[in-house]
Formats: sequence, C-alpha cells, structure tokens
Amino acid sequence: VRLVLFDHYRIGILDEDRVRDVTDVVPRRWHGTPYVMNEFIRRFETLRPRLENAANDVGYRQLSAVRLLPPIPAPRNLLAARMNYPGHMTEMATGLHTPSGVSMDTGRELGFFVKATGSICGPSDAIELPDLPGRSFDHEAELAIVIGREARAVSEGRAMEHVFGYTCLLDITLRMEGMFREERAMRKSYATFSPMGPVLVTADEIPDPGNLDVRLWVNGGLKQNGNTRDLIVGVEELVERASKVLTLSAGDVYTTGTPPGVGPIAPGDKLRMAVERIGELSVPVVARGW
Ligand code: MN
Repeated sequence: VRLVLFDHYRIGILDEDRVRDVTDVVPRRWHGTPYVMNEFIRRFETLRPRLENAANDVGYRQLSAVRLLPPIPAPRNLLAARMNYPGHMTEMATGLHTPSGVSMDTGRELGFFVKATGSICGPSDAIELPDLPGRSFDHEAELAIVIGREARAVSEGRAMEHVFGYTCLLDITLRMEGMFREERAMRKSYATFSPMGPVLVTADEIPDPGNLDVRLWVNGGLKQNGNTRDLIVGVEELVERASKVLTLSAGDVYTTGTPPGVGPIAPGDKLRMAVERIGELSVPVVARGW
C-alpha cells in the first residue's frame, strides 16, 4: 500500500495518479489533526480488510489536485542515525569539520540523535534557510523507517514485525565550522529541516530494505548516489538498538543516515531525492522570511 497525507490531514491510498480517500476508517476524533496517520498506522492490521471498500463512499481525487503533506507530520519521536555509510564517514573525516587524526566512530557506536519533530515539513513546502552569515547548510538524502507496532527491547530477528513502512527524508544540517560548535540536535532542527514524503510505502512492498538506491540531485545534477546495502547498521539492527533505549510508537520515524556526496545548499536551489521503490521528494530552497 502506498499512502499519502493531503489537504486537511486526509489519508489517501495512491493508485497511480489518483488518490483514494480512506480517512473515514480512522475514528472521527482524529480527523483534521496531524495525528491521524499515527492512529491509522496503530490500527492498520485491523483496518486493512476495510480499506478495499473504504474509498467507494468518499471517492477519488486526482493526485495533481491535492496538496500533499508530510505523511507523518507529528511522530512522537524523530530519530536519526549518525555515520551509517562508510563513504559518508570518509568525506566527513577528510572535511574541515573533524580534527585530523581523530578516529571516528560509526553509527554502531554512536547510536541515534534526535531531530525536533517541529522541523518536519512536506513536499508542498520549501526548505527555509535562516540568515546566518558565514555558515553552510548541507543536504542529506536518507531512507526513513516508519514504526508500526510499539517496539520495546525487540530483538533484531523480530524487528521487522515493528516496521510499518518507509519514506524519503532530507536531513538538512547546519554544519559546525570554526568557532561554531552548536548542539547537533539544534543544528538539525531548524523549521523545515526535515522534509519528508510524499509517499509512505508499507513494508510488505519492500522485500529488502537493505538494497535500495538512494539518490539526490541539486538543480538536476546528481550529488548523492548510494545504496542501503552499504548501511553500517541495517534497518533491523537500528530498530533493535533504539528500542532498547526507549519505546518506539506507531508512526515514529527513524531516518537511517546519509550516503556520501553531501554538500551545501543555497536559496534558489531545487532539491530532488529518490529512494528506489519508494518514491521521489522534490523541494525548493529559499531564504527564511522571518
Ligand atoms: Mn543524516
């Protein structure tokens, strides 16, 4: 199933270029709220038999006629893996930001960091860069995991039972440079620094999340071209490890880290990322107006 969230928090099943509105399978008190997809995911196994007929009452919309939102605007947790592709570790180690001679830990040692959920935006939005003279902002294209069943201390072998699906996520980053040493959580959490979506694909459609191309273009030029087979910590192990830190809830998002090729973005740029079998996310970059 390929899901989107659109207009005033309506849930749609994507059917080529049409959207079937299935919002009514979720209890009415969640309608019109940013939590409707979380509640849909929480109930998905019991709702699934009803989805086939659910759209008949409400009807279809053309995809081009709806305003797409981030598929999960308000996850309880937005986690992000660090240093999870060898090629990205190399480029960071050779960059200006890491003192030479310092050995770098991988995502296995480092675990996750947290992005504020307030940084989430969607495919109809723009990345807004704040006015911080002399600073640079990077793109990081990533496969993001969406949690289904609540996960607490799950083993790697059972982790997939807790994965609902996948989506595209851009982990936009204010880089540390020179004297500037801000907290990572803040550098990653400016408003609009987590564009997500537009499509949330259920896990049954992705037989091997460990073999998906992840690509990103800036103004049409290919900048990142990786594959999740190079993940240092794969999807199952990420879920296992995070679930031993805290309880993961339906709708939580865990972005898996970025392949090499990260680079600066500026107002006027157009970013496009694609994850194989999942979809494409395109967003412009603008100067923040506030
Ligand atoms: Mn990242």
